[in-house]
Amino acid sequence: MYGYSGKILHIDLTERKTWVEEKPEEWYKLYIGGVSMATRLCWENIEPGCDALSPENPIALANGIFAGTPVPVGGKYGLASKSPLTGFIGDSLSGSWFTIALKRAGWDGLVIHGASEEWVNVFVDDKRVQFRDASALLGLGTFATEEAIREQLGDDQVRSATIGPAGENGVTIANVTNDGRQAGRTGHGAVWGSKKLKALSVRGTQGVTVADPETLMALSFEITEASQGPHTSKYRMLGTATNVLNMNKLGLLPTRNYQEGVFEDAELVSGEYLDEHHKVKVIACAQCPIACEQMSIVRDGEYKGSMTGIEYECLYANGPNLGINDMRAIIKLIETCDQGGQDAMSNGVTISWAMETFERGIFTKEDFKCAKYPEGFEPNFGNGEAAVTLAEMIRDREGIGELLSHGTRYASQQTDKERGTETYQWAMNIKGLENPGYDARALKTFSVGLAVGTRGGCHNRTAAYDPDIKGVTNRFTVDETRGKVAASTEEYAAVYDTLPLCKFIRRCFTGKADRAGAWPMIAKLINATTGWDFDYDDVDLIGVRAHTIKKAFNIREGWTRADDHLPYRWHHDPMTKGPSAGYVVTEEELEYLKDLYYEAKGWTKEGLIPKEKLIELGMADVAEEIGV
Ligand code: SF4
Repeated sequence: MYGYSGKILHIDLTERKTWVEEKPEEWYKLYIGGVSMATRLCWENIEPGCDALSPENPIALANGIFAGTPVPVGGKYGLASKSPLTGFIGDSLSGSWFTIALKRAGWDGLVIHGASEEWVNVFVDDKRVQFRDASALLGLGTFATEEAIREQLGDDQVRSATIGPAGENGVTIANVTNDGRQAGRTGHGAVWGSKKLKALSVRGTQGVTVADPETLMALSFEITEASQGPHTSKYRMLGTATNVLNMNKLGLLPTRNYQEGVFEDAELVSGEYLDEHHKVKVIACAQCPIACEQMSIVRDGEYKGSMTGIEYECLYANGPNLGINDMRAIIKLIETCDQGGQDAMSNGVTISWAMETFERGIFTKEDFKCAKYPEGFEPNFGNGEAAVTLAEMIRDREGIGELLSHGTRYASQQTDKERGTETYQWAMNIKGLENPGYDARALKTFSVGLAVGTRGGCHNRTAAYDPDIKGVTNRFTVDETRGKVAASTEEYAAVYDTLPLCKFIRRCFTGKADRAGAWPMIAKLINATTGWDFDYDDVDLIGVRAHTIKKAFNIREGWTRADDHLPYRWHHDPMTKGPSAGYVVTEEELEYLKDLYYEAKGWTKEGLIPKEKLIELGMADVAEEIGV
């Protein structure tokens, strides 16, 4: 087989043994790589209904089809497990050198089973696997862990995916990090921590063989050239942080726990401000000619020297959403998350829930006692120091940080149970995953895309904000077209997440980002890599299958129509300022949109998948288990 080794490596942490599974080419044609293949590997290896933090929940990694080739932005992998935050599929993407090393080691994917008794660093050294004592790495941050492993092994080419103290401590919103990039959302770090897996390291020394190197090189050169032009200038100049002012103008910038969509100090937390006052340099994932990551530093004050990469989602969550207008505190907050290994989005949204709960008088100063502030502190919106302290308390599960470490859904449910309150009304999550940086009250197509999302409140998996913001759809109203639009954008995004290719390249194929503009070129790339004969329809089906296996996973874990919901606030509390003021998504509107969406997908009214549909997609074994 070209482009693949045909081999999946299984690693059992309990028994400390490994085995190799060979998959037929037909299997690869169905699941390709990235989040689709990783989810399929979870489907095949999980004990259905298991506790996400038990040894029965496997960790699956799947390389991208283009990892280790010249194809720009193709150096990515998918990571999947049952999520401890949502109870459903947790599928994430990360990129850079780690995945290239894995590909060069000769593995298309890994499945990690069981749980270790002692903290372990699993080292995949081409075909050999070592279970190395990780006790000396405990307490180290994510970046420091990678460095320490290189030093231990005496090889600066070894690449590692690691967890930080948050994952070690069992923080449910913990991430996995490699090469400064995060496999974020859904709590992978907690799953790794539950298995005492501190790090997975890889040394790969082999090449990657493709079917038609000349064509692949020529196509890659063409795309790379296009990527240096206007189609990516937004990402290259200011990165996604440029969205702050755009979202603020539209009244969609989550402010003070999504109470408003306009932040009075948006200029001070904008991409433009970051560029002028804090940017040190831009960096790129491996295999990427775009380079969107804005490395930013604090040059003075209490947090002087703090430095990390900043993008829109972590910026909105830890800036306007906390009412903070001091970029120095925001950089410190995000650095705390990145080094501690906790999800910066979930971190910001969980802290904003705590701040609102304090401002409403349910929490008091007493609730915020910690070693640093033995008398407690007052976490009002805008208080950067309080937010930094809370991020550290979450990482360490100290004081109220224990409650917050499990995210907004858990924190609000526990609080309401213990105090007889109704804080769930401002717990901004979907299926337990904290919401992204676009307020859906005035993005009606996006609202259904988010509600039905298989991994919870995630903008990346639905992408339905795009037609709403661009005016392709009327963002303030609902109509009978929206189910189809939400299904279409979600499947479009799933193609990129499966190959995986970074979506920022999407206009560089022909200048047009739609299917007609991108799919023919993507088919050529796949064919030059594998020797297959994919066409437009085959590329389109990649996204349909990817989404279907994720949905099937959720159905087997007990998903019902009621799980496709929105936060209470988006149904009941309209914003009062800006161009999106006055809108909510009524419960009737959401149920109507869900009907339309399930119909567009070819599912039943209850959102289940007919057997014939699964068989049509080549997923007969899945049909046997969950088809209706
Ligand atoms: S554009 Fe940004 S996120 Fe995408 S591959 Fe390049 S550096 Fe990574």
